[in-house]
Amino acid sequence: MREFIEFRISESDASEHLGEVGWRMGDDGLVRCVRLPMEDERVRLIGELNSEFHRAGGSFFRGWDITRHYTPEEIQSAEIFELSLRSVFEPCGEMCGTKYDESSACPHCGAGARQSTDLRLEPETIPRRNMHRTIAGEIIMSSRLVQAFQAHGITGASFLAVRDTSGRVLENWHQLVVTSAPVDIVPPTQAGNGPFDLDTNGEYRCPQGHVLGLNRISELWLKKDSHDGSDLARTRQLFGARMGVLHPHPEYLISPRLFRLLRELKVGRLIAEVAHWG
Ligand SMILES: [Zn+2]
Repeated sequence: MREFIEFRISESDASEHLGEVGWRMGDDGLVRCVRLPMEDERVRLIGELNSEFHRAGGSFFRGWDITRHYTPEEIQSAEIFELSLRSVFEPCGEMCGTKYDESSACPHCGAGARQSTDLRLEPETIPRRNMHRTIAGEIIMSSRLVQAFQAHGITGASFLAVRDTSGRVLENWHQLVVTSAPVDIVPPTQAGNGPFDLDTNGEYRCPQGHVLGLNRISELWLKKDSHDGSDLARTRQLFGARMGVLHPHPEYLISPRLFRLLRELKVGRLIAEVAHWG
């Protein structure tokens, strides 16, 4: 596995402290994108600069993203994968009239709010084909993909109607609901506010254990006994926070069989990482 980290840094700070590395983004070129292997010594330097900037009330980088790349052998021998949907759109359900029942939500982290109506969305804002998620984490799948799941006997998934804001059913879309037993996340999985901040004060960690932190920083380790063998599952523990329309979200897990099916169907903008039994 090779791990890379990408930072977004203001061009003036990047040229002053890092010299020539990465590339300028956008038309105005005011933001530098710097992508480095995690073990690169400049990653450590960026972490130190960020601590320095922090002490002065700022931050050295504005955004970050970690990506992991696997060898064919690592993919071949994996027993479970974590699936991320990079196709994200808005407005989300709550902005289109979907109701959530917050009465059973955790007072600390907001986990446990239940969607109490069918998902409502604005059809013209939904990207084309396949599988997408809203900014609030609601996942929708095209009818073609639902049919493929059913034809291949994919377990752990069920599908609900999606409606437009007037209540009319959208024939081509379904909401994906995970029905399998939740899978426990175990150490050494790391969560935190960012790549150099593991939230040691527990600002975003739920004292009741629902939310592990704002972001997942490391690969995912899972308790094998808690997995019921379904092709699709989700983690019991969540990441993120209840902020505006956003809810803490689980990580989604797929079997090698479902991984291969999604690849055969050429479902775009999916990123799968190898997950491990801990
Ligand atoms: Zn909680």
